[in-house]
This record gives sequence, structure tokens and C-alpha cells, in this order.
Amino acid sequence: MFDKVLIANRGEIALRVLRACKELGIKTVAVHSTADAEAMHVKLADESVCIGPPAARDSYLNIPQLIAACEITGADAVHPGYGFLSENARFAEVLADHKITFIGPKAEHIRTMGDKIEAKRTALRLGIPCVPGSDGGITNDDEAKAVARRIGYPVLIKAAAGGGGRGMKVAKTEDDLSTALATARTEAKAAFGDDAVYIEKYLEKPRHIEIQVLGDGRGGALHLGERDCSLQRRHQKVWEESPSPALNAAERARIGDIVAKAMQELQYLGAGTIEFLYENGEFYFIEMNTRIQVEHPVTEMITGIDLVNEQIKLAAGGRLPLTQDEVQFQGHAIECRVNAENPATFRPSPGKITYFHPPGGLGVRVDSAVYQGYTIPPYYDSLVGKLIVHGRTRTECLMRLRRALDEFVIDGVETTLPLFRTLVRNPDIQNGEYDIHWLENFLRNGGMGDPV
Ligand code: ADP
Repeated sequence: MFDKVLIANRGEIALRVLRACKELGIKTVAVHSTADAEAMHVKLADESVCIGPPAARDSYLNIPQLIAACEITGADAVHPGYGFLSENARFAEVLADHKITFIGPKAEHIRTMGDKIEAKRTALRLGIPCVPGSDGGITNDDEAKAVARRIGYPVLIKAAAGGGGRGMKVAKTEDDLSTALATARTEAKAAFGDDAVYIEKYLEKPRHIEIQVLGDGRGGALHLGERDCSLQRRHQKVWEESPSPALNAAERARIGDIVAKAMQELQYLGAGTIEFLYENGEFYFIEMNTRIQVEHPVTEMITGIDLVNEQIKLAAGGRLPLTQDEVQFQGHAIECRVNAENPATFRPSPGKITYFHPPGGLGVRVDSAVYQGYTIPPYYDSLVGKLIVHGRTRTECLMRLRRALDEFVIDGVETTLPLFRTLVRNPDIQNGEYDIHWLENFLRNGGMGDPV
């Protein structure tokens, strides 16, 4: 086991990793930018190192600074959290060169899955069903037209290097195609420095359903069920739940089995998520995330498995915690991502938290790194915390969530709590009847006041 882990992240996930390390008896090193000197993860870690100015590229993305922080503190492993360097194969390799363990998958798998075209090829080879689309990258209008005619309109143009829902363009007809292609390429170049794009059939009313996996890197792998992340705004998840209101046990077992077998064949190491769109009883692979995800707590709540703890043990060469047959799903869990944003316009609202009162009670979990008097800096994403609620049934979970949301007080900044208070009372949400477009339609139709 590791002696000391450096946590190359900030915010709630840095604290989440720190908690797992403490429970494993591992010493912790926090890193922080000058803007985060007062952050909770810094206060709670055994040691901390300032790695640069506020801009992420100069601090949390600065590989030489992170390596130096490891050397100074003698850390023997790094947990990257999510975002920042968590899916950066080069970072994993540089750490390996310095004899420091990257708590994550093998660099080759990060690289393959980070290129969405390569990822789809790999998924197909491993027997995972994919969205119909181009076999590889698309370079010109004629190629795009040929693919679009074959799969039928509407089509979606996506960036090979994509992430965070950026660089996607829909073409409803052939007339839209060349403009959509040009815009997608320009946006992809600007966002990711790579203008490679590919085409997929645009699914009209799918749900986003993803499968959590754990692998031991030696051919052992299991799945921990699904998360339904269909409630999205601008392709960003807002509310996640497990089990999905749309799946039955047989469908869960079928897709889980396909994914677990694929990960066994790949000899995947650590935690990962295979994301699908689900429509008319069929699953279509869209991408794989080779890291811990923001929404991992919903899986933890229904399986009782601490995913970050398992990540650390697997990276240290440990075994899978249980067999597939021993995995048990209990009850229902929902996570709300609470952001410091206006709940109707989603404009970021950084600033000082003047009052903070999180909810509590049976089945209520708050993963947050903020505190009363803390000032949310303007430089990073606006997640203030995640409210995760567990109940024996979905109905109990919804009632508990409603109660917990009503208890939650955050003053001084605007938050998206009012959005969740509205959603939890909505009949479609209560009935589990929503797809990936539901939330945007709801907002467009004035669900939170003036249409945005
Ligand atoms: P990113 O890596 O940017 O998050 P994903 O491929 O995971 O991109 O897609 C993000 C979201 O975009 C999905 O959850 C879904 O809402 C939407 N999306 C992606 N592919 C399609 C598709 N073929 N048809 C319809 N919607 C899609």
C-alpha cells in the first residue's frame, strides 16, 4: 500500500479522495493554487504545497510543478480526481518515469479512450454496441454527406478530442451539413487544439445511461450497475440517479455483462465508466471515462462500495473487492449537483458564502468542500457541493430529497438549489419520465421563470 498520496485536484473531489486516504491510513498531500490557499482540502491534508497562480494551466494542469510537489513531499502515488489531469495519458507516463504511481488506468487505455474515434473502434472490437456513424474521422463535405445518407438525418458532428459536451453540432438535413461540419471543426480546434471530428446518428429521445466498472488490470473486472444521467443542460449532467427508472433487472444484467466482459478482455485497471445512450430498448456506446466521475456517490450509496478506496487499492496491485455475484443493489439514490449559479440563467455566482447549513439525517450525504465564510473563487467550475440521498425505494428517495433540499441553506451566493426544489416536485421527474432533452425543454418553456 502507498505511504503518501498527493491529490492533484481541488474542491469536493480533493476532499473526497483525502477522506478515502485517511480511512486507509495513508498520509495526504494537498496541492493548491494561490487562489485556493484557504480551501478545505488544504486545511485537512497532512501537508500542502502551493503549485502556482490561479489559472489552472499554471497550477492544477502544471505537470512539472506537480512532479516537484511529489518529490519535495516524498509522495509515492498521485490521485488525479476528475477533470484537470485525470485523463491525461502523458501525466500518467511522466509519473511512471519518476516511479510514482498514477491512481488510475494504464496510460494506453487513457489514450485510447481519450480519442473518441479510437474509443468507438475499441468498443466495437470488444462487442459493445455503438451509435451508427462514420468509421473514423471525417475530413471533407463529400465524406460527411455519404455517411449521413447511409445512417439518415438528423446527424451529430462530434469532436474526436471532445469532452464536457463541447464541440457538438446537429445537422437536421443535408443543407445544414457543411455549415455544421465547419463550425464543429472550428470549435473543436479552439477548445481542444484538434479539429478531428466524426459523425453519429443523432438520437432524438434517448436517455443517458452509464455503467460503472472496476478492473484489476489482470483480466478481472466487474460492473456496479448503472447511473441515469439524462437530466442535462448543455450536455452537462445536473441530476443523476441509480437505478435508472427506465431499466429492468434483465436489461441491467445484459448491458452490465457486456461491459464487464469487455473490460476483462481489455485488462482494464481501476474505476471507469462506459457511457451509453438508451433508446427503444437499445444501448449505444458514446464514450468511456477512464476516471472517477462526479456522480460516483449514487453507485456507492446503492452498493455500499467506496469507489475511491477501491481505486487506491487496485492501483496498489490489490484485488477486486468482491465477485459479480456478490454485488448487491439496495434501494435508490439521487445526486443533485449544486452549483454557485443563478438557477434560471445559470450565470456563475462566485463570492463569499455568508451562511452554510447542509441537511442531515438518515440517507443524506453532502459532498462539499465549502464552509461558512469561504469565498468561492471565480477561476474554476462552479460546483459548490453534491447532495446525495438514498432511500429504500425511489419514492422514499424523492421524499427524502425534497426534505433535504428544503433544509439546505447557502447564503451569500446564488445557487441552483431552487432548480432542484422545483424538479423534485415535478410530475415527469416523479414518474421517471424524462430524456436527455427534458431539462432544456423545461427551461425553455419557462419552468424556472423567464425562458433562458
Ligand atoms: P462529452 O465527452 O463532451 O461529454 P459525450 O459523447 O459523452 O460528450 O456526449 C455528451 C452528451 O451529448 C450525451 O450525454 C448526450 O446528451 C449528447 N449526445 C452525445 N451523442 C449523441 C447522439 N449521437 N445523439 C444525441 N445526443 C447525443
